[in-house]
Amino acid sequence: MLLQNKTAAISGAASARGIGLATARLFAAHGARVAILDIDEAAARQAAAGLGPGHIGLRCDVADKASCQSAADAVIAAFGGIDILVNNAGVTQPVKTLDIDEASWDRIQDVNTKGVLFLSQVFIPHMQARGGGSIACMSSVSAQRGGGIFGGPHYSAAKAGVLGLAKAMAREFGPDRIRVNCVTPGLIETDITGGKLTEEMRREILRGIPLGRLGDAADVAGIYLFLASDLSAYVTGAVIDVNGGMLIH
Ligand code: NAD
Repeated sequence: MLLQNKTAAISGAASARGIGLATARLFAAHGARVAILDIDEAAARQAAAGLGPGHIGLRCDVADKASCQSAADAVIAAFGGIDILVNNAGVTQPVKTLDIDEASWDRIQDVNTKGVLFLSQVFIPHMQARGGGSIACMSSVSAQRGGGIFGGPHYSAAKAGVLGLAKAMAREFGPDRIRVNCVTPGLIETDITGGKLTEEMRREILRGIPLGRLGDAADVAGIYLFLASDLSAYVTGAVIDVNGGMLIH
């Protein structure tokens, strides 16, 4: 039990096969009280109920500061404080540079990057008041290798922005004993691809993975657990690859 008596908020944790819900299940199994924050309120409530008693599911659009603030207020009212924040919510889109319109650029930046800032801003003061905390942020191998997996260049840019933001927050809030780290998964089998991952794309990606399989949500949940727990007490500003060896260099 690595998270006994800890409280955690996880964004983008309502989708059934997603990384966020796999993480919520693992955190709950390790003793944490979990708040599932998702733009899909009904799914968030249902997912929280599925974790057992004591957990909560709330609507939160991470790209909207007021929505983040009300979610944080509700989490603090329910749990009394927060130890762990997982900035996991994200959206992607498989388009090429010349096809990115302004609305798509804004949507991808808003959810993937601005959402990390907003949700961190509303929870950090509570972590400061508690004397510390752990924030884990979702980036992607797309940030490191310039896409070439599924998401377009705007997704690579947004997820690269998360790396810079998280490292800067790690520096700024280290003195408050708040650790901030990132995960950079390769292709994980969830519904984020919305049925647009073709068999040919899949075969091509598999050719570049030494471990010979795509990832699953539990592979990433395990890294989030490590970053949330005291096992990583002296780790901050780190980026942990979860990609089957796709980026060995
Ligand atoms: P998913 O689509 O299953 O989950 C994403 C969740 O985010 C959903 O529950 C969705 O409702 C929620 N969401 C979307 N917009 C939101 C918003 N504005 N506010 C709050 N919640 C919102 O996908 P997933 O694969 O589990 O993705 C989780 C994270 O992992 C994302 O940030 C994604 O970019 C990242 N990621 C995924 C992969 C992959 O291959 N699946 C690889 C690297 C990184």
